[in-house]
Parts: sequence; structure tokens; C-alpha cells
Amino acid sequence: MTATPAKHALPSWWRTQPHQLDNYLSSESVPTESDILIIGSGITGASVAYHILKKHKGPKPPRVTILEARQACSGATGRNGGHLKPDPYCFISELVADYGPEAAEEVAEFERSHVDTISNLVKSERIDCDLVVTRAIDVQLNSRECKRIKAGFDHLPGIGVKSAKRVNFTDQEKAEERSRVKGALGCFSYEAGHVWPYKLVLHILGRCVEQGASLYTHTPANSISPEKDTSDRWTVFTPRGTIKAKHVVFACNAYTSAVLPIYSDKIVPVRGVCCRIVPTHPVKHLTETYTLRWSWSEFDYLIPREDGSVIVGGAWSKYFQDTDTWYNNAKDNEMIGSAKEYFEGYMQRNFHGWENSGAYVDQIWTGSK
Ligand SMILES: Cc1cc2nc3c(=O)[nH]c(=O)nc-3n(C[C@H](O)[C@H](O)[C@H](O)COP(=O)(O)OP(=O)(O)OC[C@H]3O[C@@H](n4cnc5c(N)ncnc54)[C@H](O)[C@@H]3O)c2cc1C
Repeated sequence: MTATPAKHALPSWWRTQPHQLDNYLSSESVPTESDILIIGSGITGASVAYHILKKHKGPKPPRVTILEARQACSGATGRNGGHLKPDPYCFISELVADYGPEAAEEVAEFERSHVDTISNLVKSERIDCDLVVTRAIDVQLNSRECKRIKAGFDHLPGIGVKSAKRVNFTDQEKAEERSRVKGALGCFSYEAGHVWPYKLVLHILGRCVEQGASLYTHTPANSISPEKDTSDRWTVFTPRGTIKAKHVVFACNAYTSAVLPIYSDKIVPVRGVCCRIVPTHPVKHLTETYTLRWSWSEFDYLIPREDGSVIVGGAWSKYFQDTDTWYNNAKDNEMIGSAKEYFEGYMQRNFHGWENSGAYVDQIWTGSK
């Protein structure tokens, strides 16, 4: 069974400009009743609350309460890579093999639509969250893997998977020039984006609070009654009191089994690492997002920031054999031993033009999903 979120998570760079709701409490004690109780204030909890309130048309909106164990958006959403990235060809090829082309295309289209959906939301809500829609470049650095993925990609249009038509492939001859990545053996590119996830979610939480939702940070849901009471309501226990609610939404991601132990072998936390790398000498800014792939399981991902820094996630190849460091491990208050060492000199090693950048790891953190 997972523990509840650790009190003092490693600071993530996304959380360096705390929003006014970061430590928000709608009142000292939680309400005794709520129509809908949402546990977790990451992108899932915030979007559930937002859509429930937005879709409501009558005079009296439902009473929505959001509980958050720590600061608002302090879980995976506030600690991730900020990459808004569909997969139109790679995993999709595997889905074709397992479920057929129609299902694969449906998944590809669902993923793609997230770029539009987030863009439309950011525009309509005027959210200041540094959204950039650009292209993703998936750089292949292992020739066998590159051939395997390219073969899967080539197969897709012929069997009706339209998503592959949105992908451009650059072969070995031009791959280094196209991507600026040293040793690139091929690269796939397609529309993707990046965003400041914490700012996006805090804005949405703010809209929910404006529309009447109650938000309680530093208020973990410790447990839930095994059954509903005679009024058809669940009882949720917190250090700020007990809440009865008809509907309870578990948006607590890696920590679900701490409240719902029946999920302990179904929702297992997996820990990852991200960092911010900053150049100290001028470099030509990157404008696209990246995945650098050495094998099916060994890859890193990167987004550029307007200030010239980059957010890079991965390093899994350095620690995956030490299973206890990442599997069934939600300790986002601890670093994974070899990760910082791996990211030092990362840009100099992998990107043309960054050799003399003096780029260094400015901040590094872990997160659980
Ligand atoms: C290192 C890392 C990098 C990633 N990179 C990317 C990326 O670049 N792009 C991408 O799309 N995805 C990425 N992901 C995945 C993505 O971040 C998650 O899938 C997504 O943020 C999950 O959102 P969520 O709201 O479901 O969960 P979370 O954001 O984890 O929110 C759950 C919240 O619930 C709270 N909580 C837990 N238990 C309780 C409780 N008992 N009571 C009250 N509150 C509780 C937690 O504190 C937390 O704030 C990454 C994940 C990690 C860990």
C-alpha cells in the first residue's frame, strides 16, 4: 500500500512562482456535506471540478469540494516535463497489432485532440501558462530500434491509420541537421506543444473557486467509509473534519491505494525525474520539443523554454535496474541517486551547438505517477 504524499517534496521548478491559492483553505474546517468531493488537485481533479461547474445550467450549482494533501498541484502535474505530446505513430503501431487499426486510430486522434483542446482552453480562459504549440522531434539513436519503428510507421497509412500522415520522417542523411542531435539516425516530427502545467492548473482551480467550489490544501483524505450510509452518502475522514458526499472522485494518482487499499496491486506508483538545465553562454535556442530514444525503454524528453533553458525528463536508463528506486515508490521528497550526474553535461553531449554553452543542472526533482 502506498503512503500518502510526503510532506516536503523536492521543489520542482514549475512551483517556483506560487499562486495565491497554493496554500488555500476555503475555511478552517471542511464542510460536513458536499455533493461532489474530489480528492487531489492536479490536472485530473481540477479538470473534473471545472467541467462539472461549467456544464451546470440550473440556478443552484452542485457543492464541489476539492481536498489536497499538500499544496495545490504539488503531485505529478506540478513536477512533470510540461510536454504536451500526442503519439501519432510509435505506440500506435503496437496498438494496431493488439487491437486493430480502427482502435489505434481512435487513440491517436484522442491524443492529438489534446493539443487543440488545451490550446482552446488557454485561449478561451486567457490562461497565462506559456503554452507553445510547435513540433515534436523524436530522435532515434539506435539503428535497430529506428528500423523497427520506421517499419511500423510505414505500415500505418496502408491499413487506414490516418494519424501517421501527420508525421514527417527524416532519414539518417539529414537527421542530425534536422534535429541538431548528435548521432541522430532518423527522426520523426509532428505537432506537439509545451506548457507551464502548474500555472495552467492553478488558473483552472481559481476559476472553480470563483464559481463556488471549496478548496482545502494541506487536507489529506485519510480514509473513506467502506459503504454508503442510509442517505446514500460516503463518509470521508480528514484532519479538518468529516465530509459526507454522494459522489467521491479519486484524483489522487500515485497515492490512490493509500485511501483505497483494494487498488494496491492495480495502481502502482512509478517514480520519474525531471530537471531544468540552464546555459551560461549564448546558444541558439531550441524551438521544438524532443524525445531522444536509445531503445524502447531508454529515452529522455525535453522541452525548450523561452529564456533559453530546457526542462529534461528521463535518465531511466541509469536507474531502472534498481527497481526499488522507482517501482512502487512515491517518494517525491528524495532524489534518485545517479540522475543528477546523468543530466550534468547532457546538452553538451547530445546537442550540436551546445558544446560551449556551460549548461548546468539548475534544479532537479522527482515525481510519481
Ligand atoms: C517526472 C514526471 C514527468 C512527467 N512528464 C510528463 C510530460 O512531460 N507530459 C505529460 O503529459 N505527462 C507527464 N507526466 C505524467 C503526468 O504528470 C501525470 O499523468 C498527470 O500529472 C497526472 O495528473 P493527476 O491530476 O491525475 O495526478 P497528480 O498531479 O499527481 O495529482 C494528484 C494530487 O492528489 C494529491 N493527493 C494524493 N493523495 C491524496 C489524499 N489522500 N488526499 C488529498 N490529496 C491527495 C497529491 O498531493 C496530488 O497533488 C510526468 C509524470 C512525472 C512523475
